[in-house]
Amino acid sequence: MGIVTTILITGTNGKTSICHILKEVFRQAGIPLQSNIHWHDDRTERAADYFTAVEESRARGEPMVYILEVEESEFAYFAEQLQADFIVLANLSRNQLNLYGELDSLVSNLKRGLELAPQAQAILCADDPLVAYIGAEIEDKERIHYYGLDAHELNELDNRSEHFLIEAAHCNYCGAELEYRGLSFSNFGDYYCPNGDFQRPERDLEFSQLGEGQKCSRLRFDFPDVKNLELELLMPSLMNAYNAAAAALLARLFGLSAEQTIYALGRCLPPRGRFERFNSPMGNFCLLRADNPEAYNATLAWALQQEDFGGLMLSLDQTGQEHSSDLSWLWDILFEKLPFAGQIGITGNRKYDLALRLRYASVAKGRLELAQNDLELLARFLNRAKSKTVYWLLDKSGSHRMRPELAARASSELDQWRQILNAGGSLSLGSAKMTGECAYSEIHEQPERKLTAKDSMGLVSLQRDRSEKNLDHRLRLAYLYPAELNLYGDRGNVLCLGQRARSRGIELEVHTIGRKDELNPSLYDLYFMGGGQDSDQGLVYQDFIQKAPEIRLAIESGAVFLCICGAYQLMGKHYLTAEQKLTGLGILPLETRAGEERMVGELLFLMNGAKPATERTAADLARDPNYLLGYENHGGETFLEASATPFGQVLYGYGNNLRRENEGAIYKNLYGTYAHGAFLPRNPAMADRLLELAWRHRYGDLPFPKSQSADEYAMACRAEAFKRLGLSNGDLED
Ligand code: GLN
Repeated sequence: MGIVTTILITGTNGKTSICHILKEVFRQAGIPLQSNIHWHDDRTERAADYFTAVEESRARGEPMVYILEVEESEFAYFAEQLQADFIVLANLSRNQLNLYGELDSLVSNLKRGLELAPQAQAILCADDPLVAYIGAEIEDKERIHYYGLDAHELNELDNRSEHFLIEAAHCNYCGAELEYRGLSFSNFGDYYCPNGDFQRPERDLEFSQLGEGQKCSRLRFDFPDVKNLELELLMPSLMNAYNAAAAALLARLFGLSAEQTIYALGRCLPPRGRFERFNSPMGNFCLLRADNPEAYNATLAWALQQEDFGGLMLSLDQTGQEHSSDLSWLWDILFEKLPFAGQIGITGNRKYDLALRLRYASVAKGRLELAQNDLELLARFLNRAKSKTVYWLLDKSGSHRMRPELAARASSELDQWRQILNAGGSLSLGSAKMTGECAYSEIHEQPERKLTAKDSMGLVSLQRDRSEKNLDHRLRLAYLYPAELNLYGDRGNVLCLGQRARSRGIELEVHTIGRKDELNPSLYDLYFMGGGQDSDQGLVYQDFIQKAPEIRLAIESGAVFLCICGAYQLMGKHYLTAEQKLTGLGILPLETRAGEERMVGELLFLMNGAKPATERTAADLARDPNYLLGYENHGGETFLEASATPFGQVLYGYGNNLRRENEGAIYKNLYGTYAHGAFLPRNPAMADRLLELAWRHRYGDLPFPKSQSADEYAMACRAEAFKRLGLSNGDLED
């Protein structure tokens, strides 16, 4: 290592926090440093702006540590250009897939980055199999160092019953299902491959979370040379404990002593806008940040457990992404499990999408308070919260929009803490009182929603409140391969069908069918199969072919199929990925080949045979059931044979291929489409159409029961999309 040290930090969650912690640790040790993360004004600069500075420092031979947060997609480039000395890979989960496409490509990019910086010491999270897999692939094991939670504690943390997907469900070497002894987040655990091909690696730093309070965590660190080091971290939550562990391991490898590291860790503060508490004359509120399902789930669960919880606000802005905007991840948030029955305030320019998502999580309309004006809404919530705290979760653009305004009106506790720490004082936040118990009274009002193994996608709970009279109005849906094919919000389609069926007094019973499960076609009226990564399609296609006779029988008998993207491709003759040929069922006369570029963004198409609307205000288009909205994200291009019937004609986006002409294909009651999104919630008329076809399949001429569902949020989302995509005109009259 030269006199100049470059540190690159990447991963889905925790990058900024790890940077902050490291900066503090090095600052305390009196080491000169520069970073692209600025605590005071919550600013992040592009890491590329530091290239020249690093070069100059190297030329001058001045001691300097550069701590740079880099986006996952840019990591390999920076690792090579800067010849990084240290690299931190925090975790990997679905995030910004509109930029990254599939997680597999991110994994190979990060692995390439490690290879391109062969001198770098790499600090990896052992508990995340996707990260550990990258470490396992690096030949020089000496430079790979792992941190992770104490095995006993990890095994105690079993939230499997609350999850509907595990991000890393399979062994990367043999494809077998990974076994998890305990599971936290969407794929942290003490995992192993049943065939012995892969397991959680040994840790160089193991930590325990001894207790958790509202404002801090009590942690114990065990380094190989020094054990049992306890500290109070002024950043609450398990996520931050992981962040602190990553920073601590790096500090030790850099050469700081264990005592020095632990002392400095105890003086770190969270980044702005994350676990940041404000006091105002009107009341107290706490800002939280989340931009992906993993962070959303963890942060929301944390907020709802706080003793002083007095209200929940959510904001979704997503500015700057208008035309590729991907909100499919909202359907991967565990809103169904929200153990909370109070009001939810919603703001931001994508508030209707958020409201629609919550409605399909069975949150009653009366509990949703949507507002244009954030401050007015906050005032209302603070007023209700009295002496308790309003927790407000924002995405990045929402936080950048609101935080400066809020900081001008209320005093941030972090500033007060900073002053005390800068004056050489210390903070004791009373960790003795720490408790994992939830004291919020409303939390017990919801019925308990423990799930069974069969309910792996969190769907069976939808049927719990059926009433006796519904029992004969039953339809059954087979949900194929949810463990493998679950990207881009597809699960939302099943939630939508379930709830819309219920609004007609129909019980939709959902059965998940995985690899090796039997499929009895006489049971089902509806089938759903979603999209996934090429590798996940590779895991299921042979089993799918095995099930071909049953599936063919079902389709010919008029059962209803909704097959999205990866599933749609496998209903065709084959999909030639960049690596292999995946044979399909050939039920749809079409074939798919890996294209020159990935097709990502909003998708709008007009149903085949339908006439374009003559009235084109956003509200008119929103009401027109033939205009179908989705979100696409695929590398495969599909080409229809002459005998195929397209699902529709593309109005915006790509559809089947780069020619942007037709979209999807239909055969009998099988609908194949590239529209993720989730597709059905934003196209409720299509959901009803599928339900009616399924009803006819089961009950023939018996009248299809009427619906009582109101679609105002769906209509608002649709209208907003038509305006955003520039499809509507004359909107002034709306
Ligand atoms: N892996 C396939 C592709 O990239 C399917 C993707 C998807 O289901 N969205 O084309």
